[in-house]
Amino acid sequence: MKENENITKRVNYDAIVVGAGHAGVEAGLALARLGLETLVLSITLDNVGYLACNPSIGGTAKGHLVREVDALGGEMGIAADKTLTQLRMLNKSKGAAVQSLRAQVDKYKYHAYMKSVLEKQSKLHLRQGEAKELIVEGDEIKGVKSVYDMEYYAPVVVLACGVYLKSTIIVGDVIEEKGPVCFNRANHLSDNLRALGMDVRRFKTGTPARVKRSTIDLTKLEVQEGETDIYSFSVLSKKVNATKRCCYLGYTNEDTHEVIRDNIMLSPKYSGLIDGVGARYCPSIEDKIVRFADKERHQFFLEPEGEGTEEMYVQGLSTGLPAFVQNGMYRSIVGFEKVEIMRDAYAIEYDCINPLELYPTLMHKRIKGLFFAGQINGTSGYEEAAAQGIVAGINGARYFKGLPPMVLTRDNSYIGVLIDDLVTVGTNEPYRMMTSRAEFRLSLRQDNADLRLTPIGREMGLVSDKRWREFNKKKNALESARKKLSRVFSPKEITKMFEDNGEKAPVTGVSLSALIRHPFVTPAVLSKYVDVFAEFDSAVVEQLFVEVKYEGYLARAEKARAEQKRLENSTLSPDTDYREVKGLRLEAAEKLNKIKPLSIGQAARISGVTPADVNVLIVNLKK
Ligand SMILES: Cc1cc2nc3c(=O)[nH]c(=O)nc-3n(C[C@H](O)[C@H](O)[C@H](O)COP(=O)(O)OP(=O)(O)OC[C@H]3O[C@@H](n4cnc5c(N)ncnc54)[C@H](O)[C@@H]3O)c2cc1C
Repeated sequence: MKENENITKRVNYDAIVVGAGHAGVEAGLALARLGLETLVLSITLDNVGYLACNPSIGGTAKGHLVREVDALGGEMGIAADKTLTQLRMLNKSKGAAVQSLRAQVDKYKYHAYMKSVLEKQSKLHLRQGEAKELIVEGDEIKGVKSVYDMEYYAPVVVLACGVYLKSTIIVGDVIEEKGPVCFNRANHLSDNLRALGMDVRRFKTGTPARVKRSTIDLTKLEVQEGETDIYSFSVLSKKVNATKRCCYLGYTNEDTHEVIRDNIMLSPKYSGLIDGVGARYCPSIEDKIVRFADKERHQFFLEPEGEGTEEMYVQGLSTGLPAFVQNGMYRSIVGFEKVEIMRDAYAIEYDCINPLELYPTLMHKRIKGLFFAGQINGTSGYEEAAAQGIVAGINGARYFKGLPPMVLTRDNSYIGVLIDDLVTVGTNEPYRMMTSRAEFRLSLRQDNADLRLTPIGREMGLVSDKRWREFNKKKNALESARKKLSRVFSPKEITKMFEDNGEKAPVTGVSLSALIRHPFVTPAVLSKYVDVFAEFDSAVVEQLFVEVKYEGYLARAEKARAEQKRLENSTLSPDTDYREVKGLRLEAAEKLNKIKPLSIGQAARISGVTPADVNVLIVNLKK
């Protein structure tokens, strides 16, 4: 038989990404954009960038992650801006540190957009297929084998398998071996990871029913509109139409709670059918009824799944109750009396790994060239997944090129906080990002994500010239705006502004910075009376106002950040055997040998490592 080079099981690439979810998309794009021939393998191409749960991107702390992914040169922010049906700034009445963008997006357009971006990306090869095992030689990754017996070889492999590893869907007492939304699941890989000695755990999450819009009496719910006067996720996006679609706010009632209480033993968690660990911050409605039994009602949001569909997502009412009970539960709600369920709610269990097995680069500690990103690391959320995906992609490319890795830290980003929590402290339940997790949250605001991370993304080679130009334009504009702060206004120029806002007018000249420090002075108020910032983009003015109003806090935060940076820059070698460090307690030595921290800062955060142990390390480091 004539030799035919095209009839071969073996195909070589520079990098392979298993998974085209939110982590896989960012990892694949980063690798290809950094010049690597990259294969992106997915069980199906119909779930590329698929929003398996809520049709929204962003939210408290998640909005920060999206803007940070965007600042590094990622795609999620652009995709959300292009496909959003509504945009809101959450926590507007609260401080700048917790204000977060949240977009309702058309999940079908989002999927189509992301798939087209991957298809058009040079050096990226999108392929349908299920990876069944890793090809490992010694302590190095060599590639993956697919269930169709193809062998894909590459020195860099990113596993971004999400909620698919041996996943089971549970509705009442019915268990199906399926992935989210009934896509096929991954049947083999988690057994292979176990065989390679990895700590594989079982986590759980759940989703609510999708109901038919025209069968709901929307007049009985509260309308929630989008907002127009806010910036969007990506600095590259032009003006977005933030008010295309509405969401609706509703409440459960005593009838709903009765249906749930009467049938609670049919719920898989309470019948004991499932024991996967669920997300504390995304409880099912059964959990809410049990945990907050005194609450008379629980709120939910009705969110459009897309512009071209009747399907509506009932945020806050996820459940694993049997389909026949779900019907009664949803129909007990005011406005839902005649509601039609289009897709039943379900709980889903899936395998994931213990992220303590990873370095802050997201590379595995025992298998060189193997990276993990997304829900497979024990997180929950599209945004958390995308954040890990771009880091794994950048570091996969740097590993391939023999360059030092990029490690984001707690003092420069939410992504740094996310990854450090995972690889230093670990997680025993689905990890969701929250602003309370970031000790430097006043400095890690979403409005300055680009100032913090775009220079790093540029150094890594992922920030395009167009984005770099936009970034420098903003930076220079901010510089010029700052120069105006010393301008002094005479009482005559500003008296009307104070009086109209019920404030006592000053009798002497006031500098612009002192003016901005007045709580009632916002960009909108100032521009109405003294339009000193007319030439600047609203994002620049917002940024400047935050800097001036929080100057004192920011200065204190800056000191703490500098100290943190000093500890993070005191690097430790991953090859250190801590049993040989004189004066170190045995327990600390064991914990340090397990985590192999890359810095004194990381060592100090390992549970069980005391400040005294850290001092021993510092002394030894000096020696
Ligand atoms: C039912 C449900 C409810 C959820 N609820 C919430 C919630 O309330 N809040 C929240 O924040 N998040 C929730 N999520 C989580 C959210 O969907 C995930 O966090 C997010 O999708 C994770 O992104 P990812 O890229 O890690 O994985 P996914 O988006 O799951 O993508 C994984 C990708 O890997 C591919 N894949 C997997 N194994 C293989 C293999 N062996 N070979 C080839 N391809 C493979 C799949 O085809 C897919 O493309 C929920 C998810 C589900 C399914």
